[in-house]
Amino acid sequence: TEEMLRRSEKLTAIGQLAAGVAHEIRNPLTTLRGFIQLLQTDADRSLSKEHIDIMLSEMDRIHFIVSEFLVLAKPQAVRFQQVDLAETLRDLIVLMQAQAMMSGVRLELKFDKDVPAIEGEPNQLKQVFLNILKNAIEAMPDGGRLLIELKTGQEGVVVRCTDEGVGIPAEELPRLGEPFYTSKPNGNGLGLMVSQQIISNHKGVIRIESEPGQGTCVEIRLPLANS
Ligand code: ADP
Ligand code: MG
Repeated sequence: TEEMLRRSEKLTAIGQLAAGVAHEIRNPLTTLRGFIQLLQTDADRSLSKEHIDIMLSEMDRIHFIVSEFLVLAKPQAVRFQQVDLAETLRDLIVLMQAQAMMSGVRLELKFDKDVPAIEGEPNQLKQVFLNILKNAIEAMPDGGRLLIELKTGQEGVVVRCTDEGVGIPAEELPRLGEPFYTSKPNGNGLGLMVSQQIISNHKGVIRIESEPGQGTCVEIRLPLANS
């Protein structure tokens, strides 16, 4: 059923994200361990308030990553609300950073100031951008630039992800979003289908332009909250 497809896509996307998240948590853990070791032997109490502040902020960082991850992993009731896409994208990028780094992909953000809120479900929208960003990173196994733009358009908000990856042959373009259409040995071909479904529930549109060997641009347009 459709619900099962959606669930299985979620698990795979989450499973792959988990590797990145684990990587992202290991760094603050290493810092924390080092400081605690110092404390253990800190007979003359040389550890300053500054050290403690670093420990606290490293703990907060782990907490943030874990709670963001849980939000994405847990299926939840769909309740539309005002969504600040700049915030949604920034939270997601914190999670994706490790995965991007591992493939040598440099994330570049170009966000308009004061982009108005849209009406939506923040976790579903995160799921969409997760799929799109993951596809872009996977299209650049030897690294490259991934440009993420957020703009105020004429009738709504525009998010554009432009990669420098392998691109998509023109004859394959119509098949994008078809369930199980994948060109990847370990792909499931559900990410775009789920994304299209979510965006159309939000009364938005996805447009994909691609040049084989040059890269791909995925554009998502969403209407403003009160239109
Ligand atoms: P999967 O990633 O599991 O293959 P998706 O539904 O996310 O499934 O994507 C379907 C197909 O669309 C991919 O296998 C790939 O061929 C193509 N595709 C999507 N995004 C990109 C991109 N940014 N660059 C190149 N090809 C892409
Ligand atoms: Mg995908």
